Amino acid sequence: MRIGQGFDVHAFGAGDHVMLGGVRVPHTHGLVAHSDGDVVIHALCDALLGALALGDIGRHFPPTDPRWKDVGSRHFLLHCAALMIEHGYALANADLTVVCERPRIGPHAQAMRENLAADMGCAVGDVSVKATTTEQLGFTGRGEGIAAFAVVLLERRRPAIAVEPADPPALRELVARVEPDA
Ligand code: MG
Repeated sequence: MRIGQGFDVHAFGAGDHVMLGGVRVPHTHGLVAHSDGDVVIHALCDALLGALALGDIGRHFPPTDPRWKDVGSRHFLLHCAALMIEHGYALANADLTVVCERPRIGPHAQAMRENLAADMGCAVGDVSVKATTTEQLGFTGRGEGIAAFAVVLLERRRPAIAVEPADPPALRELVARVEPDA
């Protein structure tokens, strides 16, 4: 078994919604980012990559790489899930915490769990999405941005296979399942 943890922050900027766990959540602000700023998925990707000791999200999805230009963060998650599978692991469980005062996360947590489970090929019951505020303290408390923490546990399912380059047909097939976000 292997454990991984991830953390991400994005600042609020102009906009009328935020993407969290692949769910479009209406809000008075958007999130400033090269991508869609989905802190939940970015933290989860870093946790998966960390468990596999494969570096971090910035190394795998540099903003300068045209392959990742204008794609939704769910593509990142599919890519990380494919790396997990190729290395012989399956998700045991993932536990996520979203930190912000607004928007309210609770009403969207179930939809996020369903998205994340679908992209990682696991049961919804293996993915937890929690939320907390920081009692109006710090940058999240002042409403300047959103933070997310992720922890994953991976179980070995079979011997690892060679994965260089990490872009096999099966991965492209997986990635093709998700439409770029509007
Ligand atoms: Mg990020």
